[in-house]
Amino acid sequence: TLTTAFLGLGAMGTPMAAHLTRHAQATDGRSLVWNRTAARAEAHAQTYGSELATPDSLAEADVLFSCLPTSADLDEVLAALPALKRGAVWVDCTSGHPDAAPRQAAALAERGVAFLDAPVSGGTGGAVSGQLTVMVGGAEADLERVRPLLDAFAGRVIRVGNTGAGFAVKAINNALLAVTLWATGEGLAVLGRSGVKLGAALEVINASSGRSNASQNLIPARVLTREFPATFGLGLLAKDAGIALDMVNSTHSSAPMLAQTAALMRAAANIVGSDVDHTAALRLIEQMNKVVIE
Ligand code: NDP
Repeated sequence: TLTTAFLGLGAMGTPMAAHLTRHAQATDGRSLVWNRTAARAEAHAQTYGSELATPDSLAEADVLFSCLPTSADLDEVLAALPALKRGAVWVDCTSGHPDAAPRQAAALAERGVAFLDAPVSGGTGGAVSGQLTVMVGGAEADLERVRPLLDAFAGRVIRVGNTGAGFAVKAINNALLAVTLWATGEGLAVLGRSGVKLGAALEVINASSGRSNASQNLIPARVLTREFPATFGLGLLAKDAGIALDMVNSTHSSAPMLAQTAALMRAAANIVGSDVDHTAALRLIEQMNKVVIE
């Protein structure tokens, strides 16, 4: 029987681990869960029938998943870990840092464990419906060993390169999210100050070439409604845009828009808050323009 373990039962990890638990129940496997705040793991076991991980049972896991805020958090978890099974695979679904991945892979390799960086996109909705996109960095052979498990919570699994490539693609994707979200917010602020009805303006934009996921989904559902439901924290988006900026610098790229967007996301997280939903970045644009995007 295959034993999986999932570490980090946050907004994403909770539903992802639930899919692995259902997969284990259907295939006679075991699904262990661990969370820093133990109450969340106990709730998971209660709700989904997963098994609370112990140091002994973690040493029996064939595949270990993690989904934590940052690569630094994974470093902490790895440093405190008990024994791991030789031949196991560690799949890190954190939106991590490409520079951390080779170091983490090397540390795990010393313990006989393979590492895949496997961040995800699709949001909490995609995690609940099991339709996430997984972008994988690492060895093809290691990916093939865990692919059936990834399929439990993913609609698409794409290998994008060697160790660190998954984190790199995720950071750039989210930098693009930040660019379109912010730029669309600026455009709506200008239109709002011109007295234009923003619902009608978005209807036009969404039938035209200015459309994006921000204009089609995020802003109508979260900003115009003034609900800003917190499913993906602004602090996490600022972190992702910052990783993209690190990549701009480390590759000696010229990418002023990405660099500026990282600074804007950091400003928004500092001023509006890091635990609010990422779409609340537009509250900073509202302050800058004395206008409400509604
Ligand atoms: P949450 O803040 O909801 O959850 C974070 C989880 O990490 C919690 O289980 C928390 O434990 C745990 N954690 C935090 N710090 C540590 C630490 N030092 N040691 C051990 N555990 C720790 O985050 P999300 O689930 O939203 O995001 C997780 C990752 O997924 C991030 O990298 C994010 O960028 C990415 N992501 C998020 C998406 C979203 O829509 N939310 C979409 C795609 C990717 P505790 O309960 O104890 O606080």
